[in-house]
Amino acid sequence: MGAVNNVLVVGAGIGGLGAAAALAQRGIDVDIIEIRPHSTVFGVGINQPGNSLRALRDIGVLEEVKAAGYEFDGWRFKDYKDNLIVDVPSGTGDDEIPGNVALTRRDLHDILIGAVERAGVEVRYGVTADELDDRGDSVHVTFSDGTTGLYDLVAGFDGIKSRIRGQLFGETHRPVYTGYAVWRVTIPRTGPPRLGGIYQGINAKGGYIPLNEREMYLFLVTPEPQDQRYEKEQFPDLLRERLEQFEGIPAEVREQLGPHSEIVYSPLTEVLLPEPWHRGRIVVAGDAAHACTPHITQGAGMALEDATVLADELDKDWSVEEALVAFAKRRYPRAKLVQDVSRGILNAEMQVVSDDALSHAVEHMAAELPGQVGGVDAILRQPA
Ligand SMILES: Cc1cc2nc3c(=O)[nH]c(=O)nc-3n(C[C@H](O)[C@H](O)[C@H](O)COP(=O)(O)OP(=O)(O)OC[C@H]3O[C@@H](n4cnc5c(N)ncnc54)[C@H](O)[C@@H]3O)c2cc1C
Repeated sequence: MGAVNNVLVVGAGIGGLGAAAALAQRGIDVDIIEIRPHSTVFGVGINQPGNSLRALRDIGVLEEVKAAGYEFDGWRFKDYKDNLIVDVPSGTGDDEIPGNVALTRRDLHDILIGAVERAGVEVRYGVTADELDDRGDSVHVTFSDGTTGLYDLVAGFDGIKSRIRGQLFGETHRPVYTGYAVWRVTIPRTGPPRLGGIYQGINAKGGYIPLNEREMYLFLVTPEPQDQRYEKEQFPDLLRERLEQFEGIPAEVREQLGPHSEIVYSPLTEVLLPEPWHRGRIVVAGDAAHACTPHITQGAGMALEDATVLADELDKDWSVEEALVAFAKRRYPRAKLVQDVSRGILNAEMQVVSDDALSHAVEHMAAELPGQVGGVDAILRQPA
């Protein structure tokens, strides 16, 4: 007998959909609500390293993800002049799980929605929870469409700007802007097979991630002022300017940019809630509890691991309180590691402000990167 019979999941993003599937697959009654009117997906593509693929396997969708996406085994690091620095294998996979599968966000969403529906759960779109009243033995929820519900647990997977995190823990734990943003655009696939690419520039880092046989996406990390708003029409010119120094694939992309280019601009913010991540019968997880920069492509992986670990802990023969304490204890160190490593890489790459600094960085990367990446991957290869 698990700790709960029914759960409300707030937010049908990657983590919320994963949690709804994982909980329902364990026989728990699940409702899931999403504030957006339909299953809109922003962003471009998304890489899923081996540990995230393990969570997707637990939810039963690994084969679909592999079929929709592109498997690759490592990263080719170059400098902005297209000189090879080092190839670094990805070590989060194993004999059964690839090191990485990248796919479009739309495909990942559709696959997760499929898993949720097969588990007998329907997403309610255009609905939020206006009021959460934790009565000790259950949570009474008033929805924005006027309906109500009574749940053993509410799980807030409501993203980095989580309202539920604010309600539970106050405004102390707000997302903090890093000073940097990412530009992304989908382009036809080129480059070596089975590798992603990273280009260290001066004051900027670019790269590409293959998405399927036909497409990949280019990304570029740049310093940008806080709260900077650019008009969408400016995006192609702004990205072209920021790619000016690059040779190789980023230069090819630069030449193709125009009004037709679907460019996405994302300021990078972080948040990390100290454990525990619950108050009473309400818990937050995914980006709502911990959001990192995308430097080791682990944000969604952490949200999906949260989903399966939460379901696992709630399935044990103990109380909700014990399950939620155990949940955050299992998750906090891993989420913090991922956030620290991701931020460390961002800091290091943005210290490259001159060709001299680049020479030092290149020497360091060639000597140290394989070992450093291998060390982090070895930890992430361990069960979540
Ligand atoms: C530039 C960039 C690149 C990235 N690349 C990668 C990558 O390659 N690999 C990777 O693993 N991760 C990547 N990430 C991180 C990843 O996108 C997030 O970590 C992941 O989406 C978190 O999932 P989530 O479900 O916690 O939150 P979200 O995906 O943000 O979902 C939250 C959902 O909750 C809904 N919601 C919000 N408020 C409410 C409310 N009040 N009521 C109901 N619903 C609500 C939202 O509409 C949304 O659908 C990247 C992030 C960025 C910014």
